[in-house]
Amino acid sequence: MIVRTRFAPSPTGYLHLGGARTALFSWAYARHFGGTFILRIEDTDLERSTPEAVEAILQGMDWLGLSHDEGPFYQMQRMDRYREVVAQMLAAGTAYYCYSSPEEVEAMRERLRAAGEKPRYDGTWRPAAGKTLPAIPAHRKPVVRFKNPLDGDVSWDDVVKGTITISNREMDDLVIARPDGTPTYNFCVVIDDWDMQITHVIRGDDHVNNTPRQINILKALGATLPLYGHVPMILGADGEKLSKRHGAVSVMDYPAQGYLPEAMLNYLARLGWSHGDDEVFSMDQFCAWFDLDHLSKSPAQFNPEKLAWLNNHYIKLADNARLESLVKPLMEKDGADFVNAPDLQAVIGLMKERVNTTNELAVAAMLFYRTPEPTADFLVQHLNELSRPALQDFAMRCQTVEWEKEALSAMLKEVLAAHKLKMPQMAMPLRLLLTGQLHTPSIDAVIALFGRETVLARMAKYI
Ligand code: GLU
Repeated sequence: MIVRTRFAPSPTGYLHLGGARTALFSWAYARHFGGTFILRIEDTDLERSTPEAVEAILQGMDWLGLSHDEGPFYQMQRMDRYREVVAQMLAAGTAYYCYSSPEEVEAMRERLRAAGEKPRYDGTWRPAAGKTLPAIPAHRKPVVRFKNPLDGDVSWDDVVKGTITISNREMDDLVIARPDGTPTYNFCVVIDDWDMQITHVIRGDDHVNNTPRQINILKALGATLPLYGHVPMILGADGEKLSKRHGAVSVMDYPAQGYLPEAMLNYLARLGWSHGDDEVFSMDQFCAWFDLDHLSKSPAQFNPEKLAWLNNHYIKLADNARLESLVKPLMEKDGADFVNAPDLQAVIGLMKERVNTTNELAVAAMLFYRTPEPTADFLVQHLNELSRPALQDFAMRCQTVEWEKEALSAMLKEVLAAHKLKMPQMAMPLRLLLTGQLHTPSIDAVIALFGRETVLARMAKYI
C-alpha cells in the first residue's frame, strides 16, 4: 500500500499550532513510508473563508518546510465533482430528495425531544419499499439527504483512540446538498478523501463526531475506508483549550518573535507523540521514527519555556550567516551603525549562546553597533585612581599588541599584575568605555571584536 495523507485546513484564520501539529504528523507519516502528502484547502464556508487565511496557511506550511506532494486542492474548484456524485447517489438510491422545510424539521426534532428520544430527522421523505411519499410541495427546492443505515453500528479502529463504535440509530440522514445544490461540509470531505485515495486521515479530535457519518457515506459509495487517527487537542498549562491567553497561537507569530522553524517543528513533534526520552531531534530523525503507535490519547500541554529552550538549542547550532540574515534587518530598524564596526557574524557567534530568540540576539548584538553612552554615575564608580593608570597602560600596549583574543587576554593579565588589580577592576571600566554597559560577553572577546582603532578611540575619550 502506498501511504497517502492529507492536511485539510479550513481557511477561516491563521494556521494555528494545533493545525500545524496535525499537518506535521500527516506529513511525517507520508515521509516515513515514502508516501504522498496532500494539501487541501477546505474553503466551502464562503462566509468564513478568506484569501488572506489561505495565504497565511500556505506561508505557515512553507516556513515550517512541510512541503506537499500534491495540491493545494481547493474544494470550491471541485463543486462539479461533488454535484456529480450527488446525482450518482440519487440515481443509485443511496440518497434522496427531502422537501421538509427547516421549520418542519425543527418541529419533528421537537416532537422527538418531547417524547424523550434523540432529536433527528424522522425520515418523512426517505423512500422505502411499499411506502408512499407525501405530495411534493409547490415552489420548494429540496435538500438531498444521505440514506444512513437504520440499524447496526459504525465501528472503526482509531489509531489514536482505539475502537470507537456508534449506533446508526444515533445518526440522522445527513443533508449532503442544500436547496441550491451546493454540497455540505462532510460530503465534500468524503468525496475528496475518496478521490484523493487517502489512506490515513490524521486530524484533530474535534472531528471525531463526523467520522461515523463519513464512513457510512464512503461505504455507500463502495469506497475503501482510510484509517482514522484523531489527535487530542493542545491545552494551555492551566488545562484550558489553547488560546491567545497562553501566548501566540498563530504559527507565523513565531518567526516574528525570533523562533526558528526547526525549533517549532521539534517542539510540535513532542506534543502528543514520544520516542522514549528523546527531546531533541531533527526532522529526518523524526520522519524515520514517526509512527501512529506512539501518539498520546490524552491532550498535550503547551509549554512556552520548553519551546524557548529548544529555540536556544537550534540558534546555537544555526549557521551564523543564516542568523545574520534574520537579525540584521531588525538591527537596521533599531539604528545599528555597521560602518567601522565588528563583523556581525563574529558578534553573532559570540552572543548566540545566551539568547532564546533571534530577536533577543538582535537586541544583544546592538551592543557593538551603537555609540556607547556610559552614564556619569557608572563612570565615577569605575574610572578611579586605581583603574585609570592601568587603563592608560592598557591603551598604550594596545597600539602594538597582536590583535587577537589570546594575545589581548595575556596582555590584559600583565597589566593587571603590574598594577596589582583584579580582573573586574579593569574589565568593568573597559566594558563601560567600549559599550556603555556593564554586562557584556568576556571582555577579551569584546576587545578583539571591536578592533584596535575603535578601542583606542573610545578609550581616548575618557582617559
Ligand atoms: N477542514 C477541517 C478543519 O480545518 C479539517 C477536516 C479534516 O481533516 O477532515 O478543521
